[in-house]
Amino acid sequence: TISMAVIDKMGHIAVGTSTNGATFKVPGRVGDGPIAGSAAYADDEVGACGATGDGDIMMRFLPCYQVIESMRQGMTPRHAAVDAISRIARKYPDFVGAVFALDKDGVHAGACHGWMFQYSVRNSTMKDVQVFTVVP
Ligand code: ASP
Repeated sequence: TISMAVIDKMGHIAVGTSTNGATFKVPGRVGDGPIAGSAAYADDEVGACGATGDGDIMMRFLPCYQVIESMRQGMTPRHAAVDAISRIARKYPDFVGAVFALDKDGVHAGACHGWMFQYSVRNSTMKDVQVFTVVP
């Protein structure tokens, strides 16, 4: 999965997710990628979220919608990401997945379960992309 969120100079926020579905691909499978709120969600008033992992499980929880709504209620990106992953892990302790959360001010965080997760960030003040590693 490649998931990407951007904030433009006007403060508009967009997010998109693609998946090759390689691990879980079966004929006819749609997956979580095109399910709004599952693998991606954004709201200019709040921020953005992208997800990767076992989409067949994760889509049952709309984790990216959850992250945005939690941040809307005041949670930090880190707390919102950990909370969204925890909600899935409580029901499916063996699931593998991760989310990143980005608020409208550019504060970001990731949370993962069952594997290590890396995401990269670049903003206008940075010379290069910086890679962040999140451990379960
Ligand atoms: N979430 C993707 C899917 O289930 C897989 C992935 O993140 O690599 O299609």
